[in-house]
Amino acid sequence: METDPGFIAALEEARKGAAEGGVPIGSALVAADGTILGRGHNMRLQKGSATLHAEISTFENAGRLPASVYRGATCYTTLSPCDMCTGSCVMYKVKRVVIGENETFVGGEEYLKQRGIEVVVLKNKECQELMKKFIAEKPEEWNEDIGEP
Ligand SMILES: [Zn+2]
Repeated sequence: METDPGFIAALEEARKGAAEGGVPIGSALVAADGTILGRGHNMRLQKGSATLHAEISTFENAGRLPASVYRGATCYTTLSPCDMCTGSCVMYKVKRVVIGENETFVGGEEYLKQRGIEVVVLKNKECQELMKKFIAEKPEEWNEDIGEP
């Protein structure tokens, strides 16, 4: 699954975020037929945004879609999704969430499963390293990103 085009896109987005000095988390939304519907990365620091986590950026970049498209889709994300992003996946009833890593942070994985969404965790080293580096360099920005004082 680490070779899925959706995961590769999410990882590329995380690297872009890192290069911009932002929170290095990327995401991609992939339709049942494999089409990448949208991709994006966390833009909180870049845009001074309260909500643009990677998954929300991705849903936003994918634009308005019929409900049926989300239901067969996979949301790839390089880090375990927070409550806000979990909520988007639950609301649109995506089929599957593929997570790069959940050592740095565990979000709403149990809630996703309870709502019938398949959850896969890849334990990807590069995703972990991107987060480790960011948190070491910008601990306050990381806490702010996950709503911690
Ligand atoms: Zn989030």
